[in-house]
Amino acid sequence: MLKYIKKGSHILKSSGFSLVGIVVIVTMLSGGWLHVDFIEDSKHILEISKNDFDFFIYKWLTIALIIVMIIAVIVGNYIHEKNDKQKMYYKNIIDSSSNIVMVVDKKSIIEVNKTFFKYFNKYSTLEEFKREHESISDFFVQKDGYVYKNMDGVNWIEYVIQNPKDNQVKIRSGSNLYYFRVSISLISPKDNHYSAIFSDITKEKIYQKELEHTNITDPLTKIRNRYYYNEQIKKESSNANRYFYPLSLIVFDIDYFKKINDSYGHDIGDDVLVEYTRLISSHLRNGDIFCRIGGEEFTLILPHTDRASAYKIAEKLRMMVRMHKKIVPITMSFGVVEFAKGEELEHLFKRADEALYSAKDAGRDKVMVR
Ligand code: GH3
Ligand code: MG
Ligand code: MG
Repeated sequence: MLKYIKKGSHILKSSGFSLVGIVVIVTMLSGGWLHVDFIEDSKHILEISKNDFDFFIYKWLTIALIIVMIIAVIVGNYIHEKNDKQKMYYKNIIDSSSNIVMVVDKKSIIEVNKTFFKYFNKYSTLEEFKREHESISDFFVQKDGYVYKNMDGVNWIEYVIQNPKDNQVKIRSGSNLYYFRVSISLISPKDNHYSAIFSDITKEKIYQKELEHTNITDPLTKIRNRYYYNEQIKKESSNANRYFYPLSLIVFDIDYFKKINDSYGHDIGDDVLVEYTRLISSHLRNGDIFCRIGGEEFTLILPHTDRASAYKIAEKLRMMVRMHKKIVPITMSFGVVEFAKGEELEHLFKRADEALYSAKDAGRDKVMVR
């Protein structure tokens, strides 16, 4: 039966008949037949009783009604099937997206695509997810530069709508960390429904971080490089100017390092650099910035540290280095300066370098303050 109804619906589709059109045609046809019957057999018709006449009319009306109902069922079935097909079609398209696609209102999730469960694989249905979480924002990591659950009291959806440019979220799902670019558009003003699309930018972010790390890291010792020193001294001196805290700089250099290379070879020289930078790194405080700015020349930026404290730190490092005696015993010379408010950075470095060279001149393995 279903097969015939479906077939019928296809015929209807191909002939382009509308429901109203069919009803009109059926009514006209039944009326036409009645009319022909009346003319051909008018004598007989005049003789039929009122009951027969009523039966005659009702018979055709019932047939017409049944036909109309059948057609209505076929057309209804056809429309329904067409809607289902269309829904499946769009669902397949959305499911095949590599982005997370969601329908949300400002409070909760209404629909998600298959990709959603690739990232939240603890759950296999949206219902399961919603039993534990109202919103995907429960998984957002709060970090500067990223959108999180409540942006200064503003709901994240509202925030993205108000600031539609390049919004990124960091998501922790289980032990995995992901980065997404997120965009939100209103899809139903009546229901206040929005589409939220999350495109995975994790690979891009990792690459960018690796690049940033490479740009600021010395490949041999793995401490920060000259580029990083230049960036950080700018930042720290401007903070020191603004917030009136002391800032000191130590510049130091291995004594007679050329001799070590000459006597033990370049590789041993490298090992010395690695070993002694590791030693110094392990004795620094949080916030101290240690950089290799040349072959065997280093800087140490000490925020919140005045000249006297910086001198003590340099003395401690000097002693530690000379006592270490690993690979090849070495000593270092140190120049210490405190940043003067408003001082040019070249001038600050020049003073520290002069202090270092006066330490060299004084016989090396010394700390000099300017
Ligand atoms: P001073 O006490 O005056 O500082 O003497 P010095 O020999 O340490 O100074 P100098 O500037 O004459 O020599 C520095 C040496 O450091 C020369 C160079 O070959 C070596 N050097 C620079 N970079 C590296 C490196 O990456 N690895 C090794 N093994 N040696 C390096
Ligand atoms: Mg040297
Ligand atoms: Mg040197």
